[in-house]
Amino acid sequence: MNERLFRQAMGKFATGVTVVATEVDRKVHGMTANAFMSVSLNPTLLVVSIAEKAQMLEYMKKSKQFSVNILSAEQKELSMIFAGQLKENREVSFDQLGGVPVLPGAIAQVVCEVSAAHVEGDHTLFIGKVKEIQVNEHRGEPLIYYSGQYRSLAE
Ligand code: FAD
Repeated sequence: MNERLFRQAMGKFATGVTVVATEVDRKVHGMTANAFMSVSLNPTLLVVSIAEKAQMLEYMKKSKQFSVNILSAEQKELSMIFAGQLKENREVSFDQLGGVPVLPGAIAQVVCEVSAAHVEGDHTLFIGKVKEIQVNEHRGEPLIYYSGQYRSLAE
């Protein structure tokens, strides 16, 4: 199986973009992630997939709680910051929701506690049990990721 071809094919699945955030020893760590989906309505569960090489993995294991912040089209720069795509470090301030850091300006902020973690290949799937939800409809259109590029919705 050709890894490049697999990545190319998976990139044809257009997604939104999230920043997953957690806090350990009073330090907030954020990571851009689009491997995210809802899993169950009753109970309310979602899943995020974190690469074994990501710093985020250890933070998630330690804190056992995290937020998923669905980015608006205006938050492309934040996506780039938390994907390590910008050269210089930027200071980003977070709000708190249910004792977990959330990204201000996100279209939706969902706070979870880790209910299970499954190692699959070179990623870990974290199942999050939803504890808090905030939806900010007025934040406008979502940021889109498709074929390795940031995009926006067109009417
Ligand atoms: P680092 O590389 O240490 O952190 C990432 C960046 O965030 C660094 O530049 C750091 O300075 C900054 N940062 C972290 N916390 C803060 C803070 N509190 N304040 C300011 N800056 C901070 N990888 C996956 O594993 N799963 C995915 O689903 C996934 N989806 C992606 C989707 C997109 C659209 C993109 C562009 C990338 C995706 N990635 C995904 C890759 C992932 O975002 C990067 O590999 C990321 O750099 C890994 O972060 P890290 O946890 O290793 O931490």
